[in-house]
Amino acid sequence: MTLKSINPYSQELIAEYQVLTNTELNKKLEVSETAFKNWRKTSFQQRGEKMQKLASILRDKKEQLGLLITNEMGKILSESIAEVEKSASNCDYYAEHAEQMLKDQYYDTPFKSMSVYDPMGAVFAVMPWNYPFWQVLRYAAPAIMAGNVTLLKHASNVTGCAKAIESAFLEAGFPEGVFQQLSVEVSQVESIIESNIVSGITLTGSEGAGSSVAALAGKHIKKTVMELGGSDAFIVLNDANIEKAAEVAAHSRMLNAGQACICAKRFIVTEKIAEEFVSHFSKNIQAIKQGNPIHNGIQMGPLARLDLVDTLSEQLDKTLKQGAKLILGGEHEGCNFQPTLIDFVSVDSVAFQEETFGPLATVIRAKDENDAIAIANNHRYGLASALWTEDREKAYHLARRIEAGNVFVNSLVRSDSRVPFGGVKKSGYGRELGDVGIKEFMNMKSLVIE
Ligand code: NDP
Repeated sequence: MTLKSINPYSQELIAEYQVLTNTELNKKLEVSETAFKNWRKTSFQQRGEKMQKLASILRDKKEQLGLLITNEMGKILSESIAEVEKSASNCDYYAEHAEQMLKDQYYDTPFKSMSVYDPMGAVFAVMPWNYPFWQVLRYAAPAIMAGNVTLLKHASNVTGCAKAIESAFLEAGFPEGVFQQLSVEVSQVESIIESNIVSGITLTGSEGAGSSVAALAGKHIKKTVMELGGSDAFIVLNDANIEKAAEVAAHSRMLNAGQACICAKRFIVTEKIAEEFVSHFSKNIQAIKQGNPIHNGIQMGPLARLDLVDTLSEQLDKTLKQGAKLILGGEHEGCNFQPTLIDFVSVDSVAFQEETFGPLATVIRAKDENDAIAIANNHRYGLASALWTEDREKAYHLARRIEAGNVFVNSLVRSDSRVPFGGVKKSGYGRELGDVGIKEFMNMKSLVIE
């Protein structure tokens, strides 16, 4: 069996990678176990020096690594390079702050009592293709700075990226086994989860993959963090700066060709300003230049795989049959899907109910702000939301009513190393990033000394 890497723009086969045999996989699990025994004893300073070296290697090679990302999953080259830079910054961030985040915490008791944070073993990560460097370094930098080791099962279409990340760790001087990439199939995942060295599992991907991996983790009593799908609401109220909101709306929906968990997907707009918003929104979307993702000036590349085009196209067709109005786009060829805008989308339509992973923007008209919040919350997912209003006091109270792990007011929803990130409902549980993310896979040990 092989894992295939196919350039989504040209459909050329870039490379094929052999899947590990079970014997090879077991050997890697043993290497991980040995590595953990030594790595957990290293100091924060020793780990931090290597992590900073990794950051500088990523920055030095950002053009080459960016091209690899673009070739394997199709995002435009400037976004790929920016992704490598952001991943490097995350390494620096945890190199600098991990020790402080994991310092002993004392309690007010008549005896000496504290919490200490011990690493637990290997974090097994199942990661997606949409941000093939960022998703990995987002969990791996804190996990490794905390003294854990890690095993990565990356999405099969970005195995080249997975191997390049492993090489960068080795080049930075991390001992063998601290970061290992596993070329495995989904059918081999349970044997990894049940292995003694694996102490926790983190997954970013679809609800289906999350449910399946969380069930296996439950069977083997292993902790999980799940960062799953989203259908993020972008709420625009009467008093919003409509022009600015429409500009950010287009960016938020179309970045990475619409393939991000935190791309805004449902644009919930009050009736009074809907026409004006749609007019600006459609001009911004129309201006997006689509084409070969390695060419300068191109703002949107292809979707990552042909089956993703088929799924999106089906979702669009069904939603139009359910009464939505096509404003722009809708055509596709190969992996290229035109930036598309539909209006008058109903809450029971397919594009409202399901995650749409591509450049399809849906406008839903709300009667007023209470109706807008109710529509936003009327969903199985709860990853992030954007809220647009010039009344910041009101925004605070409305934001507290939104059922999502993250709410951004008058701003693009984005992840940041310093701020915890994660979802509620079927978007998952647990948090990554910030000082919370680094503690997810630690033994928070209570220590009492009399
Ligand atoms: P998947 O969730 O299937 O893939 C993500 C990762 O999970 C990959 O490494 C994949 O491996 C793995 N995986 C899939 N199924 C299982 C399983 N049963 N057990 C263990 N690992 C599994 O996403 P797809 O790439 O198929 O995309 C489908 C849809 O998922 C998208 O259209 C989008 O809606 C959603 N998605 C959401 C993401 C987000 O960030 N919210 C990210 C990616 C996808 P392999 O590649 O070998 O199949």
